Amino acid sequence: MLTGIHVLLTYMCNLRCDHCFVYSGPDAKGTFGLNQIRRVLDEAIKIGTIKSIYFEGGEPFLFYPLMLEGIKIARGMGFKTGLRVGIEL
Ligand code: SF4
Repeated sequence: MLTGIHVLLTYMCNLRCDHCFVYSGPDAKGTFGLNQIRRVLDEAIKIGTIKSIYFEGGEPFLFYPLMLEGIKIARGMGFKTGLRVGIEL
C-alpha cells in the first residue's frame, strides 16, 4: 500500500556527489511549479492511503519559497510532511 510520496522539487544541487542516484548538480535545470505541486497533492488525496509528502531533490532549499509553500499546502490538506529522509516537520 502506498503511504507516502516523495516530490523531487528540483534536480539542482549545490553539490555534485559521485554517489548521487538522481545525478543532481549545479547545472541541473528546472523545478516543480506550484500548480504541479497542487495537482500532485490533489491526486495523492484521491488515492486515499497517502499519509505523508516529502519534498526533496536535488537540494530543495535552493527553492525555499516554493518548498515552503508546498509544505504549507500539503499540511493544509492534512498530510504529514518532511524534507529528504527522516526530517519530520
Ligand atoms: S542531491 Fe544529495 S547526493 Fe545528490 S548531489 Fe546533492 S547532496 Fe549530493
